[in-house]
Amino acid sequence: MTEVQKLFGSLVFNETVMKDRLPTATYKAYKAAVLEGSPLNLEIANIIANAMKDWALEHGCTHFTHWFQPMTGITAEKHESFISPTAEGRVIMDFSGKELIQGEPDASSFPSGGLRATFEARGYTAWDPTSYAFIKDNCLCIPTAFCSYTGDVLDKKTPLLRSMNAVSKAACNILKIFGIDTVRVNSTVGPEQEYFLVDKKMWEKRKDLVYCGRTLFGAKSPRGQELDDHYFGIIKQRVLAFMKDLDEELWKLGVLAKTEHNEVAPAQHELAPIFSSTNVASDHNQLMMEFMKRVALRHGLVCLLHEKPFDGVNGSGKHNNWSLATEEGMNLLDPGKEPYKNLRFLTFLAAILKAVDEYQDLLRVSVASAGNDHRLGANEAPPAIVSVFLGTELTAVLEAIAADKVYNGSPETYMKISDDTIPALVKDNTDRNRTSPFAFTGNKFEFRMLGSMFSISGPNIVLNTIVAKELDEFAEKLADAPDLEAAVYDLVKETYLAHKRIVFNGNGYTDEWVEEAEKRGLLNLKSTPEAIPYLAAEKNVELFSKYHIFTESEVKSRVEILLENYSTVIGIEAATALEMFHKDILPAISAYNSDLTKAVLDKKAAGISAGFESELADKLSKLGAEMYATSVKLDADLKAAGDIECSKKQAEFYHDVVLEDMTALRAAVDAAEALTGGKYLPYPTYGELLYGVNE
Ligand code: ADP
Ligand code: MG
Repeated sequence: MTEVQKLFGSLVFNETVMKDRLPTATYKAYKAAVLEGSPLNLEIANIIANAMKDWALEHGCTHFTHWFQPMTGITAEKHESFISPTAEGRVIMDFSGKELIQGEPDASSFPSGGLRATFEARGYTAWDPTSYAFIKDNCLCIPTAFCSYTGDVLDKKTPLLRSMNAVSKAACNILKIFGIDTVRVNSTVGPEQEYFLVDKKMWEKRKDLVYCGRTLFGAKSPRGQELDDHYFGIIKQRVLAFMKDLDEELWKLGVLAKTEHNEVAPAQHELAPIFSSTNVASDHNQLMMEFMKRVALRHGLVCLLHEKPFDGVNGSGKHNNWSLATEEGMNLLDPGKEPYKNLRFLTFLAAILKAVDEYQDLLRVSVASAGNDHRLGANEAPPAIVSVFLGTELTAVLEAIAADKVYNGSPETYMKISDDTIPALVKDNTDRNRTSPFAFTGNKFEFRMLGSMFSISGPNIVLNTIVAKELDEFAEKLADAPDLEAAVYDLVKETYLAHKRIVFNGNGYTDEWVEEAEKRGLLNLKSTPEAIPYLAAEKNVELFSKYHIFTESEVKSRVEILLENYSTVIGIEAATALEMFHKDILPAISAYNSDLTKAVLDKKAAGISAGFESELADKLSKLGAEMYATSVKLDADLKAAGDIECSKKQAEFYHDVVLEDMTALRAAVDAAEALTGGKYLPYPTYGELLYGVNE
């Protein structure tokens, strides 16, 4: 075995460890429970808990934790030691099946959107045996779901697992119609993670980066990404050392870290893992983000996961590559050599088109956040309009079916979509089509609207559920069809004609597309406050209730949480902007201006003309007056925002008024920064931040 092979999964209680350490009957019971999604009985749990504990102790663990994902979008953990007192005043290391299966962290401070009063603090965590336990910081981490005392869902994992079960059931039913028997269909995801690395010493000097994760001020640097030389460029030694370290940490945790490269913007990079089941991919993406941050610190760097750390250069997203595969590993979105004749593939494709069209609002909501608002529609990321890219070949196939024609593409064109000629498809992935929010990329769909900071759970809950719903509808139509082939072509035709408006193969960055999309009746929800309320639309509540993903009150609570989160984020940004303005920016500009004024007076006294000093002092003085007035308005508007009771109105006010004030303040400050002497500047410039990692 190579070092990497030894390292990989060494901190994971995975299949190999379980097979080694569990009695065969216990291992079998565990496997059956995972496959069927059924609970494990306490007897079995006790045996697993004991084996887990022994394994963890051998690896130096002293504690365990139920590792869960509340609606903050990140992970939470409360460490408990294994100690248990004995009658002799000593301790033994103990871990029971009950402790493995269920935990009870105090839930009062997690967002619940009004679902639970703070005094009803009890929240429960329940072991998710489909994601392996692992070791982090000498602590045995047990992936768990999190719900309230009354059973309300308080996390991102529970609905994700439910959506996976829904899509599995629906897909299995469809497959049965096509004569394929399988116990489970897994939704699979490979999330490509973008991030920035900046020098820690510089980062410390910027309150905006420290408090908000993004810069709120900063004049454009002379060089940004104009030369297009960073994308896939040679990786700097310091960054390489970071990536190597990160890979090793992730491999130990069983994360399939695979592809690392420089991204478009200077200081921007990407890491993509090999895909896995949605649930595991979601857990692993959380670990990936956590370890990016902590490994960066070891290298004197800070990892920025914000969607838009810098104005004027590309922001960071997360491409959610999604597909469906049977338990045996058959990829259901693989069109094969002749997609026109692949009835099964066509059925899944049509279901996905219908799902994305009918639930464009839900997909849009699933990627809405204050940070992502800076990207979507900003000519670097997909527009805020949801549409599907199919490519020329698949579009031609569907057009032929819709026109009752036999698809007569030449064999070469068939070959383009075949699984053994993927390079031909890569040709389709030109820049033009990187603008698509939801693109077919050969044997999967790539949902490209996610922000870099996102938990991938939300978007995948939506994807799995909406596809489950359409597959169920299709199953009803196809189940008793006397002629399956004719029925599939009819269904595909009907579906394509009804939902063709969602297909767009052109350039999504253009204004023409915005106009065209409006004509087609597609939604263009430009901001988070505009998008969020759609979550609670009647059809969406119905969908989530039907599949037991969320109850109506859970949906409504999520709307509240999302709106409140938006307002809180903008509120913190505005307060930070004001603090930086008063504490750092104004004094700096003032100092420079006062030195310039002194120079004017000195020169005048000496009978020398003070042309540039007086002109510059005048300009800065005017900018100073402008920014001061804007800051006064921002301050007043921020206070007014805080007083608005209705969460929707409040979020809108933050978007329409507070954010606008911040933009105006920034414009004046950036103009002044560009004119101010370097030694007066209170924080590192864009140029220094973006080009600060050079070794
Ligand atoms: P890109 O061309 O978009 O940069 P990458 O190769 O960087 O593509 O990433 C593609 C991602 O898609 C990887 O994480 C890969 O594992 C994932 N992927 C490949 N096949 C599937 C599949 N069947 N289901 C889900 N994800 C997949
Ligand atoms: Mg991609």
